[in-house]
Amino acid sequence: MKDCLLNYDYSKLEEIIIGLGEKKFRAGQIFRGLYLGLDFSEMSDISKPLREKLLENFDAQPVSIIKKLVSADGTEKYLFKLRDGNIVEGVLMKYKYGNSICISTQVGCRMNCAFCASGLAGLIRNLEPAEILGEVIAVNRLIEGGLADKRKITNIVLMGSGEPLDNYDNVVSFLRLVSAKEGINISARNISLSTCGIVPKIYKLADEKIPVNLTISLHSPIDSERQEIMPIAKSYTIEEILKACEYYFEKTGRRYIFEYVLIKEKNDTERHVKTLISILKGRPCHVNLIRLNDVKEKNLQGGTEKDAYRFMGALEKGGISATVRRKMGEDIEGACGQLRRSYIENNEIKKEKR
Ligand code: SAH
Repeated sequence: MKDCLLNYDYSKLEEIIIGLGEKKFRAGQIFRGLYLGLDFSEMSDISKPLREKLLENFDAQPVSIIKKLVSADGTEKYLFKLRDGNIVEGVLMKYKYGNSICISTQVGCRMNCAFCASGLAGLIRNLEPAEILGEVIAVNRLIEGGLADKRKITNIVLMGSGEPLDNYDNVVSFLRLVSAKEGINISARNISLSTCGIVPKIYKLADEKIPVNLTISLHSPIDSERQEIMPIAKSYTIEEILKACEYYFEKTGRRYIFEYVLIKEKNDTERHVKTLISILKGRPCHVNLIRLNDVKEKNLQGGTEKDAYRFMGALEKGGISATVRRKMGEDIEGACGQLRRSYIENNEIKKEKR
């Protein structure tokens, strides 16, 4: 694959353009075009020879949208094709305050959580910063957004397929690029990073001075049971995670959030509520309860909406701030890894039939 200019920040891009024997101001035009989602051939403000020179050496857009599904609730699911043919997915959620996009950081995932479709085939590869950014740019262009004040995407959630802290350097580069003033300019406080809890990387992120919202996929308050749901729990205990969260709070001043997918009998009983309250009490945190979306390869059951609200009520009674996440996009396979998986399966079936 050719190198992708979207991997670089503005000053590095200037260097590259000067290195090609061009005037410095050209970098501004190219940068703008790239962030608007244009291919080199569409950058009408630069000369044809320069466009050709760029095309010889670099790729402009590393991500293209190959499928868009719209849910009855307005949620949009996107399938993104990368230059090597790999596919990742993203979800656009429309709220009163703006548009929030959930994007992927890896093709597949190594974490193999029991309820999640992304890890079913393991990790295929990390996304480059340009590719993570490309997901945002492609959707922003499709919904007719521009740059800075004219962007249509206002919030980003790194909660698609992949474990962001397992692709640490690229994810941090992405965070710097997407929050840079010259580009899309989405501030760190409007970005959430969701992790299964890779403790040393949480400390490292706290020191980066990019105060994104930290979300931890907890899914159980008891180490031995968490290990059954999330293999990564064998490497880091809940106590270690909580300490890292405290450090994150001290460094960034940002309250942290726990994600908790409710799985029938495995983590949604009275015993679990009590333990959860005891470990979280007094901490600057919030619990986001999520109803399990069925993944057909996984033999786990979610509860009803009523069960979720009962769990939430019990947490609140114990002094823990909690919400039940609105179930969005279920009809379009909104949960992590589901659409990509069904797309690949259907295409494979089609191939076999041919
Ligand atoms: N690796 C990161 C980010 C991706 S998974 C992490 O572990 O946080 C992020 C979230 O996707 C999970 O915490 C869970 O809230 C959600 N998720 C994944 N599969 C799901 C499913 N089958 N049903 C409901 N939520 C799911």
